[in-house]
Amino acid sequence: MDRINATTLVLKDFQGVKIHTFVSPYAYAANATHIIETANELVIVDTQFINPLAHGFRAYVNSLGKPVNRVFISHGHPDHYFGLAAAFADCKAYSLEGINTIIGEWGPQMIKNQKPTFGDMIPDEVVVPQYVVVPNTSEIIDGLIYEYEVVESAESEVQLLIKLPELGTVIAQDLVYSGVHIWLGMGWFENWATELQKLANTKGYDYILAGHGLPCTKDEIHNNIRYIETAQKLFKDGLSKDDFKTALLAAYPHRESPMMFDLYLGFLFGKMGSH
Ligand SMILES: [Zn+2]
Repeated sequence: MDRINATTLVLKDFQGVKIHTFVSPYAYAANATHIIETANELVIVDTQFINPLAHGFRAYVNSLGKPVNRVFISHGHPDHYFGLAAAFADCKAYSLEGINTIIGEWGPQMIKNQKPTFGDMIPDEVVVPQYVVVPNTSEIIDGLIYEYEVVESAESEVQLLIKLPELGTVIAQDLVYSGVHIWLGMGWFENWATELQKLANTKGYDYILAGHGLPCTKDEIHNNIRYIETAQKLFKDGLSKDDFKTALLAAYPHRESPMMFDLYLGFLFGKMGSH
């Protein structure tokens, strides 16, 4: 048994369509990647961060015994697209044009930044999605409607939001952090909270797929808004990096993945560039 390295699989069965969610260990930021399984095909959303988890996710995808129609990449942060090179390079990959540009321009630097820590656990080069998703359009893939939207200046500069209206499901990825500490590297507190409120107000969607942590409901969106407002106040109060972390840990003792702070405090408090 291995508690630290435990992955989680969640299966939501919509009778005819299944959504599988693969969540990495909390020690690895609980990255959540998804498979939409329709009658004949699979659609993948995001690809994991480190190679062993990307391979583990791919092995699970392969175990379903259906061809992969495509992989969507939700945004330009490496914990979502590194696995594309590691385990899904043979698949067609899609994202918004701006995200493909960010991955192409920033990806090599992200690998350089992460190599000293992760070594052979991350890929040596990036794969940039070859196909473009146009926001505010929709399409039918293997009989299921996918609606594409763009969210700007929230968790990242630009991200793809996918709605599955027939399933009441929104693939929010890093717009929502479920049960774990929130990556606040960009410091766009207000706009992020506004986007979350918009999502909370959207009727007809009660199954939320987060980018980190387990699938959740709209209650978790409200928890995220409160968390972000708390963080914003602490940041505006001029707390030091360490005091900021201590205060948020004290305010949210039950959220998992405290290592998230190590991943973003350098961005929020420093001049490190990110998208
Ligand atoms: Zn992420």
